[in-house]
Amino acid sequence: MYPLASNARDGVIMVTTTADKHDRATTRNTIQRALVLEAVRTLRDHPTSADVYEAVREHHPSISRATVYRNLGVLASRGEVTRVEVPNGADRYDFRTTPHCHALCRTCGGVFDIEMPQVDMASQVTDAHGFFIERCEIVFEGVCAQCRSRDEAHVEKDCGSRHSA
Ligand SMILES: [Zn+2]
Ligand SMILES: [Zn+2]
Repeated sequence: MYPLASNARDGVIMVTTTADKHDRATTRNTIQRALVLEAVRTLRDHPTSADVYEAVREHHPSISRATVYRNLGVLASRGEVTRVEVPNGADRYDFRTTPHCHALCRTCGGVFDIEMPQVDMASQVTDAHGFFIERCEIVFEGVCAQCRSRDEAHVEKDCGSRHSA
């Protein structure tokens, strides 16, 4: 594409065109976006943007928080990751892009996938009183299995100590 490229690499001729700069910026953006996407796919547990930043920074310490956050926004708008809005909490990011529901644990703040046969609730609305529905997100709230088993262990321990006293 650029006949001078090999010479430029050898340091014989240094020609920087606007197109070169543009190409380099595009390449950098593509690499950064790929790193962010990879982090979301690796974390797999609905990470916050802060979680994703920490994961990327572990291997690429020079990347900025703003870059990671901006790329999360781009990936979400492109549908390459799903942004999950959590009531009273930070948005989460999901490597799963097929429709599914979520459950929020009020004890640990964890977000979990919920399998439901009918995810498209908006199509089930029989009368919206003229309201034009664009989207619908369901977030169940409760206590996750891990927190429940921990709570139960505590209850048993408390009962045990009461009995022995
Ligand atoms: Zn929990
Ligand atoms: Zn999910």
